[in-house]
Amino acid sequence: MNVNTACIHAGYEAANGEPRCLPIYLSTTFHYDKCADVADIFDDPTLGMIYSRFENPTCDATERKIAALEGGAAAMLTSSGQAANLLAVLNLCSAGDHLVSSAAIYGGTVNLLSFTLKRFGIDCTFVSPRASKEEIAAAIRPNTKLVFGETVANPALAVLDIETFAAAAHEAGIPLVMDNTFPTPVMCRPIEWGCDIVTHSTTKYIDGHAMTGGGVIVDSGNFDWTAHADRFPGLTEPDESYHGVVYTEAYGKLAYIVKARMQLMRDLGCYPPATNGFILNQTIETLPLRMRQHCDNAQRVAEWLEGRPEVEKVDFPGLTSSPDHDLAEKYLPDGVCGVISIIVAGGRERAAALLDHLKLASIEVHVADSQTCVLHPASTTHRQLTDEQLVACGIEPGLVRLSCGLEGADDIIADLEQAFSAIA
Ligand SMILES: *Cc1c(COP(=O)(O)O)cnc(C)c1O
Repeated sequence: MNVNTACIHAGYEAANGEPRCLPIYLSTTFHYDKCADVADIFDDPTLGMIYSRFENPTCDATERKIAALEGGAAAMLTSSGQAANLLAVLNLCSAGDHLVSSAAIYGGTVNLLSFTLKRFGIDCTFVSPRASKEEIAAAIRPNTKLVFGETVANPALAVLDIETFAAAAHEAGIPLVMDNTFPTPVMCRPIEWGCDIVTHSTTKYIDGHAMTGGGVIVDSGNFDWTAHADRFPGLTEPDESYHGVVYTEAYGKLAYIVKARMQLMRDLGCYPPATNGFILNQTIETLPLRMRQHCDNAQRVAEWLEGRPEVEKVDFPGLTSSPDHDLAEKYLPDGVCGVISIIVAGGRERAAALLDHLKLASIEVHVADSQTCVLHPASTTHRQLTDEQLVACGIEPGLVRLSCGLEGADDIIADLEQAFSAIA
């Protein structure tokens, strides 16, 4: 199915006389006539639903839609992007295990991998997003269970060389897990380039209207766990918490997602409500239209910003001046995303003053929705750091993250122009 068609039709199909729109099944649980019926589902959870802590018919339809969009075998929604990345990792790593990650990833994920998972005995080694296959291979150990990266990093906007990361992972017999939040499956489908498991913060473009927080994990179904059975006993040996099931034997290509749902989601319970599943199913209908507009706006705004004397540097992989332009052309030929990062000349105070004078663009700790928004890390999310500390973690004091919304590009540019004049 073409991606535009899948955004409309995948997941839910109304049978004769049924509702045109995906119904919201607000029901914590599901009725059965006989004990034996419930027993059958406990034996094989793919036969029916039991409890909305880990499954729900509305969310199920949205999961099918997102799996179709990414070209995966199955998907599972989560209550946030953080929960998606947490469960994607925990589904493969236990205490004593290790993962390798690109260093250019979302700050929340850096914290998760560097600090919180470390307290649970899971270690992470970070490598440059530009690392060679040999450099990635050198970071992989006997207890390494996955390689992680972001297609387009938030906020660094580094584009990952997916084929290089996939080759390094596969040669070591481990999967590549990628957070595809910024491009969405409309601009890039990492599975087509060799990625095995895709995650998203659906809070960003997939919702796209700043309404619901959420996440999703999509499994390609391509990774052969049994060929590396020693590394992945959680998938290839009996699960004593689930009547001794061997996920790979019982569920084949669905093994990873069934384990994530029936073991981790069952125990951790970070599943979204049906209303959120409904909203995402609806917002995805316009995702291709919205992504094209976000990308076109960002391209025009980035090109305009590049000529401005008030701006020291514009970072956007769609610009030919970007060091990631070659990778963007390869993996994201139709556009990257709507987020641009700029360094305002004059540092911390000038950047804050620019934001104070913007009228259309609003100051928000958010990105990737229909309204243009801006964030100045040095005066908000990273305000506790000195200028020297900021530079050390890759954030210039004058750095501004600009998320181009769906307004007319001329209006976004006019807003920036009047704000530049005001601080001149
Ligand atoms: C926002 C974000 C997350 C975290 O998602 P939440 O929905 O805020 O929990 C993870 N990865 C990326 C790339 C993000 O932009």
